Parts: sequence; C-alpha cells; structure tokens
Amino acid sequence: MPTTILNGKEVSQSVYSALKSRISALKSQSITPNLAVILVGEDPASQVYVRNKTRQFSNHGLFSDTITYPSDITQEVLLSKIYELNKNNQFHGILVQFPLPNHIDVDAIINAIDPKKDVDGFHPYNLGCLTAGKPIFIPCTPKGIMRIFHHYNISISGKHVVVVGRSNIVGRPISILTSLKQVNSNGTTTICHSGTINIGQYTKQADIVILALGSPEFLKGKDIKEGAVIIDVGINRVDNDSPKGYKIVGDGEEASLKGKASACTPVPGGVGPMTIAMLVENTVEAAERSLL
Ligand code: NDP
Repeated sequence: MPTTILNGKEVSQSVYSALKSRISALKSQSITPNLAVILVGEDPASQVYVRNKTRQFSNHGLFSDTITYPSDITQEVLLSKIYELNKNNQFHGILVQFPLPNHIDVDAIINAIDPKKDVDGFHPYNLGCLTAGKPIFIPCTPKGIMRIFHHYNISISGKHVVVVGRSNIVGRPISILTSLKQVNSNGTTTICHSGTINIGQYTKQADIVILALGSPEFLKGKDIKEGAVIIDVGINRVDNDSPKGYKIVGDGEEASLKGKASACTPVPGGVGPMTIAMLVENTVEAAERSLL
C-alpha cells in the first residue's frame, strides 16, 4: 500500500501563515509576542532545541530572550527568576528547557510558572483543564499532532488509537486529546508503557499508533495492521559511519512501516516542526489573552 508522508514542515508553514494576521493585529496595538526561555547547562541537544525554537520567533517577527545558567545553578535562583518573569509584562510566555540537572526539582519549577504564561502547557492547572476537556494551553507536541490529523483530514472519531508512552509532555496529553468528546477527537484510546505486556498485541489492533517512548526503531511493520496511521514522536540518536557520527531515527522502523502503513510522519520533518509551530501559536495566544 502506498504510504502518505505526513509532512510536518508543510503543516507548520500553514500554521505560520494563519498566524500572520493575528500577529499583525497584536502589533497594531503595540504588542509583540515575547517568549522568555530558560536554558540550564551545556547539553548540546537542548542548545539545538532552544536555537531552533527561538529562530522561528525571529523568523516571524516575534521576540524571544534566552536566559542561560550554568548547570550548578541553585533551585532557589531559578525559582526567583521565574517569579520575576511571571511579573514582567514584557514577556507573554515562559519556557524552561528540559532536561534540568538532577538537583533541581522539575515539578517545583513547572509549578512556579504562572499558568497564564505556561506556553508549554505543563503546569498542573493547564493539564487539569485539558483533562476536563476545557483546554487553555495544550502541550505543544500533542497539539501539533492533532493539527497534523486535521490538516490531512485524518478522522479520529470511532478509531482505535494506541499511544506508546505516558509522559506528561507527550503520551498522557495526546491520550487525553484523542479521546475527548469533541469534534476532531472522539477516539478510543489505549495507552501503553513500560509496564505493558506484549505491546504488539495492542499496536496490531490500532487504526492510529502514536509512538512517544524514545526507543530507536521500536515499532516494526509486523506490529501494525495494514493501513494504520503512524505518528512518530521519537527523536533518537543512533551512531553510524557518517561524518557526523550519528543519525536521527524515530521510535518506528521506517523501512518496514512504509508500504504497510497508510500514512506516517517522517523523522525528522514530522512532529518536530509542529512542536515549534505550536509553541509560537501558544505564545501568540498568551499575548492575545494578556489584552483581555
Ligand atoms: P519520557 O522518557 O518522558 O517518556 C517515555 C515514555 O515511554 C514513558 O512513559 C515510558 O514508560 C515509555 N517507555 C519507554 N521505553 C518503553 C518501552 N521499551 N516500552 C514501552 N514503553 C516505554 O519521554 P518523552 O515523552 O519526553 O519523549 C518521548 C520521545 O519523544 C523521545 O524520543 C523524545 O526525544 C521525543 N520527543 C520529541 C518531540 C518532538 O517535538 N518531536 C517533543 C518531545 C519529545 P514509563 O512511564 O513506564 O517509564
């Protein structure tokens, strides 16, 4: 079966186009959406993610400010910076790039962010609103996946969706989003994790599989049914002989999934660009709400 490639880059461009008039309307009121990014330590992957995110802000005429700290920063200093940013009207959104060093309590950091500036949608208030079916800020990656479904007219209603992974940033929120009693949702969702016995028995029944576990090429073609839609969130570095010394692969084995799946997201170029587009959109939303 021919497999449609769900091109996240293309979908993200349509998101940016749709945001243009909203950004202009804000600017006409002397407001430019502005994101504060906190980056702790020297992790190269985190540095790349922050660079890619902030680049899209400047590409679309928005502001961002990256505040960097060494990895031995204390939790108290980090918290006091967040409290300061919460009060600073110049910033509409606050993003703390994860992972943080082990001595920092991630929950304390997330809980400190003003939910009105929580453009990553990780604060328990925002996760609670999402769970209640009345989302305010939706975490960027799950929101981006829903936008891919919408763009390609992939209906979830009545479908069996199997999510592999239950993190608060991807697996859990996408399992909620796909099962809400709402137009563009209304799926029957199963969530698998490291405690699931024989994940293949679930993925083989799925109309849609969403992979968010962080295990290179975990899902093979033999583990899906013919015509399933595969959304691959995974970003994994695998060593190889290339000049860079590694390549990026997803949580699905592209070679065996292609030809059996009806549609799949590539890695890279699938979910990744949508995560950034949704961060930009959430920051525009935060700026709009600041006027209410
Ligand atoms: P986490 O490590 O926080 O969560 C992984 C989840 O997968 C956990 O629930 C874990 O189970 C489960 N899991 C791990 N290994 C297995 C396994 N072998 N079998 C079944 N379940 C397993 O990861 P994230 O959710 O943050 O990220 C997942 C992947 O997505 C990573 O590769 C990450 O880099 C990528 N990512 C990509 C983004 C993008 O924009 N494209 C954005 C965010 C993440 P348990 O709960 O039992 O531990």
